[in-house]
Formats: sequence, structure tokens, C-alpha cells
Amino acid sequence: MTILVTGGAGYIGSIVVEQLAEQGAEVVVFDNLFQGHRAAVHPKAKFIQGDLADVAAVKQLFAAHTIESILHFASYTLVGESMEKPFKYLGDNVTNGLNLLQAATDAGVKHFILSSTANLFDQPERLPIAETERIVPGSPYGESKFILERFLHWLDITKNLRFTALRYFNAAGASPERGEDHDPETHLIPVVLSVAQGKRQQITIFGNDYPTPDGTCIRDYVHVLDLAQAHILALKALQAGGPSRQYNLGIGKGYSIQEVIAAARKITGHAIPAVIGPRRPGDPAELIASPAAIQRELGWQPHYTELETIVGDAWRWFQKNPNGYEK
Ligand code: UDP
Repeated sequence: MTILVTGGAGYIGSIVVEQLAEQGAEVVVFDNLFQGHRAAVHPKAKFIQGDLADVAAVKQLFAAHTIESILHFASYTLVGESMEKPFKYLGDNVTNGLNLLQAATDAGVKHFILSSTANLFDQPERLPIAETERIVPGSPYGESKFILERFLHWLDITKNLRFTALRYFNAAGASPERGEDHDPETHLIPVVLSVAQGKRQQITIFGNDYPTPDGTCIRDYVHVLDLAQAHILALKALQAGGPSRQYNLGIGKGYSIQEVIAAARKITGHAIPAVIGPRRPGDPAELIASPAAIQRELGWQPHYTELETIVGDAWRWFQKNPNGYEK
């Protein structure tokens, strides 16, 4: 039984593929390599370069493989960009997801895991954020994921497609072999570490007038290995006949931008100069997950909860791969 991983050449997808492949699963990766890297795909996985916008290619993919389960990572993922290019998100992210869902339901796929996001919760009334929190997408990016969650809700009822939506808080860190390599890079931890690598002069902190103790935004950074583990558990639960579910996926602890920079200074021994810039549109002040539901129902336990471990693992990967996946 084949597992299809869209976006399996990307940061989180490639590390989930690594874990699946090492457990002996039969994995097909479908990725357009806009953001992903061929070298990130585990050698035991089959790789197909293709685009979910290409309906014929998607049909061909399902005609050629008997796919039982899908993990759908392929997506545009930037909150800030989505505020400038809403159609890329509300258009492409949604349309590409629907092309996949159409083909999947036509082919009788049984299980679907969606990469969803904490950006569903722009104005949380309670922290940490539980699944019962009111959904208010913070950007076209968050809305695009919410729309796909709603489609899944109805495909569960009408097409027997069981799904898990994993609402990632902030993915960070690396496996020994695979890490974060975006172009352009916009995420906080890799940008901070690129200053220590000498690739940037300084880090700009997007706003220090938020209602948080040090004025900078607080995020729940979850190690990508723990994130990957959650996908494996979610898939096993669906394969065992479990119900469709949505889970908030973070460690339940938040760190400010200033704390991330301080941890990076300590780990790298570099001064990492920081300047304050304007707020980035679409950024909520504080996002911390309550992982209670996924812990209780799937037995998920994060193993790497210290900021220094998370930033340290990212740093190790960058030191080993100073130019990312480019040789
Ligand atoms: N951030 C920042 N400077 C940067 C990149 C990010 O101050 O160069 C902030 C960003 O505004 C947010 C936090 O760091 O408050 C985490 O941003 P990131 O893009 O890593 O993840 P997001 O929370 O948007 O998914």
C-alpha cells in the first residue's frame, strides 16, 4: 500500500518521508521543486516531479499507483506573502488541494493528512490554544488551510475519506540529514542563524510593541522531528480505523523573538546584531498550542522541548550544509 507525500521534497515533508521510509513504508513523493529539493528526498522513496495544478499529471499519478494514504504538504506557506498575494493562497493553494482531493476521492483513497496551521487562530481568546478555540484565520494563507479543512470535513461525510488536520505551530530544528532551506528564507530561526553564518549583517525584529513581556511576538516552536512523529502517529490511527480529527500541534510553551535570538547567540557564539523594524502584517502577538488532545488521543510526546535543543539542531544542520542542499 503506497503512501503519497505531496511536498515530500520540502522541509517538513522530507523529514516525514525520512521517517516513513526508514520504517519500511512504500512512499511516493510528488513535488514541483519550487521550494523543495531533489536531494532532500530519501533515497528509498520514489520521486515524481510534478505540479498539483496539472490535473492530467495528478490523474496519471493515481493511475500509476495504488495509493491508500496521502500526506499533503505541498503548499505556499508564508503568512506575510499571502497578505500581499492573496490569490496565490486563496487561489493556488486551494485549487491545487482540490485537484488532489478530487483525484484522491475518485481513486478511493482512505486516509488524508493535511498540513494545517496555527494561523487559523488570529485572535485567540484563551492561551494555550485548544481545538475548541474560535477559528479566525489571520491571513489568506490561514484561510486557504481552513477551506481545505472544511472540504475534508465534507469529504469525510460524503466520500468516507478519513482525515487528520495537523495545525502546526512553528516548525523548527532539523534531523541530522535534513533541514530548512527556503529561497528566499523568511522564517525566524534560519534567518537568525544566517546572521551567525555571516550571510546577513543583522536580524530585523518585526515589531517590539506587542502586548508580550518583551514586546516581541511569542511563538510555539516545535521540533521538526517531533512534528514528523505526529504524522506517523496520525497515519497509524487512521489506518487502525480511527476517526477524522483536527489537532493543534505545538509543545505548549512559547518563546519570544528576543529569546530565540538570545538562544542563537549562546549556541553560535556570534553577537547576532538585531534591529527593530515595523510589524509584519498578519502576525498575531502570541500563538501557543495546547497539545492536550493529540497527547491524549494519539500518545504524542514531544522530545525536544528546549529552545536551545531546537535552535542547536538547526545550527548543526546549517554548519554541515552551509549552502543548504546546493552542493
Ligand atoms: N520574524 C522577525 N524577523 C524575521 C523573521 C520573522 O521578527 O526576519 C518574526 C515574525 O514576525 C514572527 C516570528 O518571528 O513574529 C516567527 O515568524 P516565522 O516567519 O518564523 O513564522 P510564522 O510565525 O510566521 O509562521
